[in-house]
Amino acid sequence: GWRVLIAMMVLMRKDVTEEQLEAVVQVIESHGLKALPLPGGERTAVGIPSAIPPDLRPVLDEILSAMPGVDKVVHISRPYKLASRDFHPHDSEVRVGEVRIGAGHFAVMAGPCAVESYEQMLTAARAVKAAGASILRGGAYKPRTSPYAFQGLQREGLEILKVVSQEVGIPTVSEVLDPHDVELVADYVDILQIGARSMQNFPLLVAAGRAGKPVLLKRSPHATIDEWLAAAEYLLTQGNDQIMLCERGIVPIDRTYARNTLDINAVPIIRYHSHLPIIVDPSHGVGHARYVPAVALAAVAAGADGLLIEVHPQPERALSDGAQSLRPDEFAQLMAQIQAVRAALAPFNAK
Ligand code: PEP
Ligand code: MN
Repeated sequence: GWRVLIAMMVLMRKDVTEEQLEAVVQVIESHGLKALPLPGGERTAVGIPSAIPPDLRPVLDEILSAMPGVDKVVHISRPYKLASRDFHPHDSEVRVGEVRIGAGHFAVMAGPCAVESYEQMLTAARAVKAAGASILRGGAYKPRTSPYAFQGLQREGLEILKVVSQEVGIPTVSEVLDPHDVELVADYVDILQIGARSMQNFPLLVAAGRAGKPVLLKRSPHATIDEWLAAAEYLLTQGNDQIMLCERGIVPIDRTYARNTLDINAVPIIRYHSHLPIIVDPSHGVGHARYVPAVALAAVAAGADGLLIEVHPQPERALSDGAQSLRPDEFAQLMAQIQAVRAALAPFNAK
């Protein structure tokens, strides 16, 4: 048998002219690729029946989608489809109780890196809620580089999260590390967090996709955009459409000043190529509390649908990530600045 692998399809407008079609074919061929005109009853498309080098794909998309007579460019061979805007042009909205994230709704998730005690979480929850956060974060299962470092309170941590969530009236997000723990964690928290180190733990993604809870999928510091969206595809193919992406910094060329390099480019890139909400984590992105506010505001200005920020009542006593955790008063000030940036940009975002 034979098969034609179509890597990309250029869908032409119904009123396309012969000249416009010919121009599209020429542009494709000038890049060393084959062009296959596919006339249809309704309208014509031009297929590209060969593999396209990954770095050429976005360039070609940009050139072709701007040409007269072109309706849109559809990427057939990319490793994700459900996560793509190609067949889902409108923004997805994630619902967590009364909280909405995406499609114009903005939410801040804040709290300690790790759940350490009931008192610590209660203080943190009250403070972040009072400052305007709508989700409480806190890890019960911590992915630590060293097995001797604090691993999290695990089940006890989940119980603390749940009690505090109910007492303060704020939904929660918490990381799940092991596919076997997905059901347990899903019983206790409102959003499952897949950590950066787990982004390509495929059995974990499948289990999380089936748990019936929204999922926050962090980007691995080593992952390309395609790998990250392909990981989201694992969640979406389980029938879960309540998926958020979280940029948390990629490998830096220099760890002297920052823990990671926040890939701010990811915000407009994800917004263009995917309908999923994009959340930014400036805390892990830069790694030092003094830089977190500037980076957080940049993410808001860039169009992030939300932020994930580490806040600890006493950062100097934190069992993990104290150096990058804001004090409650610093967080409250940042929230006011976030509101100011959002208000300044609101007239431009109104449709
Ligand atoms: C965290 O959110 O505390 C965390 C461990 O983040 P990441 O997976 O991005 O390192
Ligand atoms: Mn952390």
